[in-house]
Amino acid sequence: MVDLRAGSCLCGAVRYEINLDGHRTGNCHCRDCQKNGGGPFMTFTTVPQGQLRWLSRPDGAARASNKAVRRFCSHCGTPMTWDGGENDNNNVSTGTLDDPSGLAISYEIFTRSRWAGLPPVPGARQYEGGTSQY
Ligand SMILES: [Zn+2]
Ligand SMILES: [Zn+2]
Repeated sequence: MVDLRAGSCLCGAVRYEINLDGHRTGNCHCRDCQKNGGGPFMTFTTVPQGQLRWLSRPDGAARASNKAVRRFCSHCGTPMTWDGGENDNNNVSTGTLDDPSGLAISYEIFTRSRWAGLPPVPGARQYEGGTSQY
């Protein structure tokens, strides 16, 4: 099944198409995501390799840890991807989808740094740290 959707940064300089077939979407509560996103967590959607196609690539890159490169639009600053090197599974910031309807949060990671008072997403698998299981 193909569920093809479009996405972009806030200013529109970065654009992509993504096939959501087999996707997973989750919240990351790690401190890096809190800093990078400017809020309590960031939400990413991951698809199998080959299902993300850039129409115009993000031209900004930040290496905040030895694990990942975060790519962003250098014009408007929108965080676009979290790329984990050889484990890169095409993680895009879910909020950059033009139409995120129907996407459910199925997991949450790094819940040990979840903001006080913020409840778990009902039904979402919870992980204290990172995981490759999701
Ligand atoms: Zn932009
Ligand atoms: Zn994170």
